[in-house]
Amino acid sequence: MSKESVVRLVLGDQLNPNHSWFAAPSNEAHWYVMMEQLSETNYVRHHVQKVVGFFLAMRHFAEHLQAQGKNVLYLQLDDPRNRQQFADNLSWIVQELGATSLEYQLPDEYRLDQILKRLADQLPVPVAAVDTEHFLSERQTVKELFKGKKQYLMETFYRAMRKKYAILMEPDGKNPLSGRWNYDAENRKKMPEHVAIPPISELDSQPVGEIVAMLEKMEVQTIGAIDPQRFIWPVTPQAAEIILDDFLRHRLRSFGDFQDALTSRDPFLFHSRLSFALNTKLLHPMKVIQKTLEVWDNGGSGISLATVEGFIRQILGWREFVRGIYWAEMPEYGTLNFFAHGAALPDFYWTGNTRMACMKQAIGQSLDHAYAHHIQRLMVTGNFALLLGVHPDAVDAWYLGIYIDALEWVEMPNTRGMSQFADGGIVGTKPYVSSANYIHKMGDHCSQCYYQHKEKIGPKACPFNSLYWDFYHRHREKLEKNPRIGMMYRVWDKMSPEDREQLLAQAAHIKSNSESL
Ligand code: FAD
Ligand code: SF4
Repeated sequence: MSKESVVRLVLGDQLNPNHSWFAAPSNEAHWYVMMEQLSETNYVRHHVQKVVGFFLAMRHFAEHLQAQGKNVLYLQLDDPRNRQQFADNLSWIVQELGATSLEYQLPDEYRLDQILKRLADQLPVPVAAVDTEHFLSERQTVKELFKGKKQYLMETFYRAMRKKYAILMEPDGKNPLSGRWNYDAENRKKMPEHVAIPPISELDSQPVGEIVAMLEKMEVQTIGAIDPQRFIWPVTPQAAEIILDDFLRHRLRSFGDFQDALTSRDPFLFHSRLSFALNTKLLHPMKVIQKTLEVWDNGGSGISLATVEGFIRQILGWREFVRGIYWAEMPEYGTLNFFAHGAALPDFYWTGNTRMACMKQAIGQSLDHAYAHHIQRLMVTGNFALLLGVHPDAVDAWYLGIYIDALEWVEMPNTRGMSQFADGGIVGTKPYVSSANYIHKMGDHCSQCYYQHKEKIGPKACPFNSLYWDFYHRHREKLEKNPRIGMMYRVWDKMSPEDREQLLAQAAHIKSNSESL
């Protein structure tokens, strides 16, 4: 051991092989420390595929570093030396390795940021933080951009990012290519039955059973199912690239058209399934954007500009934007409950056991694959929880646990903000609620459902319908002045008092029987 010895902590979502830490030649004095801990498996009940995915990716990453000749200390969950907490583990590790300092990459979660900041007081060595070199904006970019403004606007941020990185811009660097910034309105088609959905690419098999057995031994409580023979999530940068290439070759062309479509035919449709690889940093967002632009080839591929813009907006725009909001608004953000909602999350969110076809599909595939696409998360499960008045803490915990890609910095602004409007309009300008009308328009679920999408009253009336009016009615004071909503109240006021009463009685019945829907 040389005199200077640095412990470098690598968290489970910091698997960026191109980080400058790893570019330098191997250095005897650097120890890379990676730890599986109960503090991380147990802060919320996670989907089993999520825990397995993280541990597999971490183990592959440690092997990759070792193969490069780097010193790695990898602590498995069941290692007898494991004290299961950052400070406790790092204390003995620093001592055992004779470390003279500790470095870590800035975490993306507020919870971990606090834990790691405290290390400076808990460890006998100096502690320093470096950037993860992953995101395309800084933690504070959104806060600074909107300083003194009444509202955050994704579009303003997105345009600034387009200019900053000269993506889809005219040569002057000021105007968007072809004169338009945003093609969102064109990306909203229903899935026709004749359109074939490509199967997802198969990846190398993984020692899933081994990790599941270890989780059982360590009594980690998980949700959802796992197939030990077939793990569909990428756990190496190479596998992430396979998924990316598959997306660009087989899915991108139809991504825009069917981005908002709902169907029981397939859990993934034309979505990229890249969120896990991006959020663990196996894949860099700029790589995704550049490869997308290469495939598009300025229109040469026959893929429309609307499609390419729509996909890039998700990564350059939404992903970076919600992260900026998270850092601008935490920790208060995690306590917001604009509507003072307090209902419990119905049990069927954990089992999929409901007669509502749209909910059964969205929850069922979440339990099976740790995945649902954006519109399912927003307009099906999120919409229903909001209409029912579920406490945002319970909604957050469900989303944070069940999805393979769920890390708080991205989960919370999407769930508590965009989906539950618990932030009163920080992320979105109005609550995303709908009756069965929207779900019927965008998909094939209603035709297969026990409930009737057109009915509002009666035992077979779609629960979304009366809950929708009940939601607007009970939050009139908070919503009526919103210029994007006022019209709904005019429709409500035009209904006869008997109709309104019936709708509210139906909603009350649904709310008190929410466990048996
Ligand atoms: P695609 O549809 O192929 O989109 C491409 C990429 O764009 C995604 O991989 C993702 O990185 C990015 N993206 C798209 N929309 C968003 C968005 N609103 N916010 C941030 N990034 C976005 N995403 C997460 O990564 N983790 C979460 O925990 C998460 N929770 C969500 C909760 C709710 C209630 C909602 C409405 C959305 C949530 N999202 C979350 C955003 C989005 O639904 C997922 O990123 C997406 O479904 C992942 O699947 P995909 O990779 O196939 O995405
Ligand atoms: Fe969902 Fe209602 Fe349609 Fe059934 S009828 S699928 S519950 S929207």
